[in-house]
Amino acid sequence: MIIVMKKKADEKQLDEVIRWIESVGYKAHVSRGVERTIIGAVGDEREKVRLKAAEDMPGVEKVMPILQPYKLASRETKDGNTVIRVGDVEIGGPEFVVMAGPCAVESEEQLMECADVVKKGGASMLRGGAFKPRTSPYSFQGMGEEGLKILARAREKTGLPVVTEVMSSSDVELVERYADVLQVGTRNVQNFALLKAIGHAKKPVLLKRGMMTRLDELLMSAEYIMASGNDQVILCERGIRTFETAMRNTLDISAVPVLKDKSHLPVIVDPSHAIGQWRFVLPLAKAAVAVGADGLLIEVHPDPAHALSDGPQSLKPEKFYKLMDEIESIAKIVRKGYAEKDGAH
Ligand code: PEP
Ligand code: MN
Repeated sequence: MIIVMKKKADEKQLDEVIRWIESVGYKAHVSRGVERTIIGAVGDEREKVRLKAAEDMPGVEKVMPILQPYKLASRETKDGNTVIRVGDVEIGGPEFVVMAGPCAVESEEQLMECADVVKKGGASMLRGGAFKPRTSPYSFQGMGEEGLKILARAREKTGLPVVTEVMSSSDVELVERYADVLQVGTRNVQNFALLKAIGHAKKPVLLKRGMMTRLDELLMSAEYIMASGNDQVILCERGIRTFETAMRNTLDISAVPVLKDKSHLPVIVDPSHAIGQWRFVLPLAKAAVAVGADGLLIEVHPDPAHALSDGPQSLKPEKFYKLMDEIESIAKIVRKGYAEKDGAH
């Protein structure tokens, strides 16, 4: 249920309503908007009518059901957009955020070179996988903790926050020790044990859409993380499986405006995994900026021909610089006036 407070409601009244919600066994998620404060009361769906009684409490304007099955991820329970802060970077605000780096951390030398390129190109964050979800068990599986240590050293050197994937619930604590953002990959989007474990982490989460999940299912996965206590979720469209075989996946560009309509969470696009071929990453990246994404995830490698994973879709440094250059003017136009339009946060 959503409990909408009156404009003039004071802190004491708000506290009393929160305490009452908790006393009947629900969790209260407070969203302070420009206009008014709303409380999302979530818990057992079968008993929710009990919350109607809050309508008689001082300071309460009305109590309404949350219509979507995803409660905390829904726009209904929050006024304005969620802006996620990672160091000095803000995702979901006026700034357009590019996260870039190799598919996998392969060595200290390779990652440092990538990190320098990413920084020089003007990206805000460095990505790189230490635990790799490969289709074949015989492919390179990632460097594990050693890869995480290299990522942490690259952050020290460049100042760029790092994003890296967690594949298993038992690795959440380990990855959280080194990373700034925890990535849930497409193959784990409905690994509910992992989502719950990551929900207890204190770091923001980059949640990739499954290659076969609908948008409402993606939002339910975000809900798992949020219901466990972590409301710092970034959604990522990375292409879905369709009948088309000319590309690795089909980038569902329509996911961006639709997700932004349904949810207050930031939405970024990964054109690299969508298209699977470096030549088409730039046009898709431009489309993502134009359609209103909050950022991009781009794979970059100094020597794609010898990359241990995803070489064919990785941009060489020069191509990455070109991409950064070409999206800048689009981002300026699209995000101009953003703060005034949607910016309440
Ligand atoms: C990745 O980001 O390197 C990756 C494995 O992505 P996805 O889970 O989208 O395939
Ligand atoms: Mn990859």
